[in-house]
Amino acid sequence: MTGAFVTRFAPSPTGYLHRGHAYSALCAFEAARAANGRFILRIEDIDRTRCRPEYEAAIYEDLAWLGLDWEHPVRRQSDHMADYGAALRDLSERGLTYRCFRTRREIAEAIEQAPHGAMEAFRGHPLPPDEEERRVEAGEPYAWRLSLDAARRALGGFDHLVFTEEGQGPNGEYGLIQARPELGGDVVLARKDVGVAYHLAVVVDDAGQGITHVIRGQDLFEAVHVQRLLQALLALPTPVYRHHGLLTGPDGRRYAKRDRAQTLRELRASGMTPRALRTELGFG
Ligand code: GLU
Repeated sequence: MTGAFVTRFAPSPTGYLHRGHAYSALCAFEAARAANGRFILRIEDIDRTRCRPEYEAAIYEDLAWLGLDWEHPVRRQSDHMADYGAALRDLSERGLTYRCFRTRREIAEAIEQAPHGAMEAFRGHPLPPDEEERRVEAGEPYAWRLSLDAARRALGGFDHLVFTEEGQGPNGEYGLIQARPELGGDVVLARKDVGVAYHLAVVVDDAGQGITHVIRGQDLFEAVHVQRLLQALLALPTPVYRHHGLLTGPDGRRYAKRDRAQTLRELRASGMTPRALRTELGFG
């Protein structure tokens, strides 16, 4: 019988997996095994311009080489755009979003001119309805942003937004943590080019797939502040979070997709065995 523990590894097929991905995937896989739970692989491919089928094929091949197995069929985010669209419509119909026509450059300038300088998270403003209508009709591209002010009003404040961290945030955050959605500003829920953005797709999928434990790298710890808010607004359950430390190379920098020598396929080509890699990563 499987326990009530469901976790996932959710890579984006924008490059080959490296040691850091192997570590993250093993953390989730082994946690599921220890809990007699389920391990899910999810392909986060909403950005069709950056994702490539050969990288997706390599994810399956590399993870199988590492000794992992996962449930089928694998959920591919690009197959579920309608789900994200429905969530966005729900938020929009409740007045929680607004169209943002600003370009990247305009946003960078707005942040620079803000009183707190570059640290200020972006906060835009809904346009007056007639101007908005004119620009939509003129075919100008826009992103959908979540309005923090409207969200705060809808929820009667953010004080009750808490989550449980069983791993550790980058500053040692642990235990019951107060979410601070204002850190993220008015986040983009749907990108101009793609029609959805990371945070919205992730909360819809985590809930839809019944994820009870999100196990991932500390680089995504700050994302919980926004994701917790979206869960509250969409009446979705909040999983437990376990963020793990990031592996660093000999130069002290974390592994990234640019480190080609550290991709799992390069390691494999150089004769490394999956057993040796697992041992090196602490899963001997
Ligand atoms: N797709 C994200 C990445 O490639 C991970 C998303 C998540 O684990 O929430 O880093």
